Amino acid sequence: MKLLFELSKKGHGSNFLPALDVPEATLPDSARRAVALDLPQLSEVELSRHYTRLARRTFGVNNGFYPLGSCTMKYNPRINEEAASLAGFTGIHPLQPAHTAQGCLEALHETERCLCEITGMDAVTFQPAAGAHGEFAGVMLIKAYHLAHGDAKRTRIIVPDTAHGTNPASANMAGLTVINIPSDAHGCVDLAVLREVVGDDTAGLMLTNPNTVGLFDPNILEITRIVHDAGGLNYYDGANLNAVMGIVRPGDMGFDVVHLNLHKTFSTPHGGGGPGSGPVGCKDFLREFLPNNQVVAVSKAGVSGDVRDKAVASKTVSEAIGINSAASEEVSYSFASPSKSIGSVKAFYGHFLVIVRALTYIKRLGAAGLREASIQAVLNANYMQKRLSDFYDVAFEGLCMHEFVLSLQAIKDKTGVSALDVAKALLDNGVHPPTMYFPLIVHEALMIEPTETESKEVMDEAIDIFRKVREQIRLDPDSLHAMPLTTPVRRLDEVNAARNPRLRF
Ligand SMILES: *Cc1c(COP(=O)(O)O)cnc(C)c1O
Repeated sequence: MKLLFELSKKGHGSNFLPALDVPEATLPDSARRAVALDLPQLSEVELSRHYTRLARRTFGVNNGFYPLGSCTMKYNPRINEEAASLAGFTGIHPLQPAHTAQGCLEALHETERCLCEITGMDAVTFQPAAGAHGEFAGVMLIKAYHLAHGDAKRTRIIVPDTAHGTNPASANMAGLTVINIPSDAHGCVDLAVLREVVGDDTAGLMLTNPNTVGLFDPNILEITRIVHDAGGLNYYDGANLNAVMGIVRPGDMGFDVVHLNLHKTFSTPHGGGGPGSGPVGCKDFLREFLPNNQVVAVSKAGVSGDVRDKAVASKTVSEAIGINSAASEEVSYSFASPSKSIGSVKAFYGHFLVIVRALTYIKRLGAAGLREASIQAVLNANYMQKRLSDFYDVAFEGLCMHEFVLSLQAIKDKTGVSALDVAKALLDNGVHPPTMYFPLIVHEALMIEPTETESKEVMDEAIDIFRKVREQIRLDPDSLHAMPLTTPVRRLDEVNAARNPRLRF
């Protein structure tokens, strides 16, 4: 396919800029280009066709089944887009005075209230642009907390070997030393090992629960207690929240800080680079360290203070999510910086329209709907796991949560067909591959997360395709090394692409 620059024809296209309606200003020479910018020249229809062609070559949730484990590729309801395109949300400027954007601040405040209720936290920052960025911000909160308590030696953070690679990376970026601990035979945290590694140098623990092999750690309360007893804090990687919304809350499991991936759990679009959103929630004792630009609700009677806290404290999950902020008439919203803020991790208040999409999703489903979504997600994963276990090895037997892991190791030993080969064969059959080679503790891993938005019929069709591929492995294993045959590009040199990216035309 040609690039826009190659499609360009001199004289095509037109200038869509409106006529100048303000006095013309001239730039100083030092700020002017020496040579005119060489922009591609294309008509609107040429441009439109180019992007439509590109869109047809990509695979998204609107093309078909997308069981990419750990990524929660659920359907993104169109009503989210409708809300996010309302002029009152799109036509604002981040520097405009807060009193002229009260509805937008209320949306932020309301989303914060909902996320607090869903996670069991007391405050949320929306600045982080995605999950990994949230991890960084969250770990910075933990670090700031220890430093504020004169506990400078707490520099070690414990991360189980099932963790997403971003966990150790974020902790490392925040200047902490990562202590990797092995999982037990069931894929969960090994309590004996955890007890051994905690100490007066422990900053905290980073954990996702259910973990990346799809298991809810039965010892979760004991785990978070061991870390607290040692003086550390508990960080919850909320990427797997889709399994437990409205059922259990990280705050009740003993976690002090969480990040959420709005683009996973709360149905805002992702893949292809964003924009995402990775809000971070924390317990009250960490609130003073949160990044800048926290929305504060102030009663119009002039009594300052965060009325939100009182509102949340007196509500149950369903009340908090189901109710419009009845107080909005008497409340005005403004931005404030917490007293010991870690500073900004991103400009202003994060990706606002992503937050609007998530709020729409939460309001549309309500408390009961969110809970139902998690229940369906777990049911779907168990259905697929059970049926696929007839012809593939499941890495960890028993009930799973919202995702599960297959291991192709035995098949590879016998036939030479790897997890990668199976993933490529699925592509030829119209199914997006599962996550491959993750988590690292499972060899030849394929990690499958159907999500709640898939029907039994879609899953049955996918299971038939998995079976067909299994049959092909039996009959003609070598043929799988050549797949995919039907995609716009065949096997890519992924290592070379990552190590030597060509980012310029
Ligand atoms: C996706 C994911 C992350 C990182 O989130 P991004 O939004 O992609 O930065 C972290 N942990 C787990 C378990 C994940 O699945």
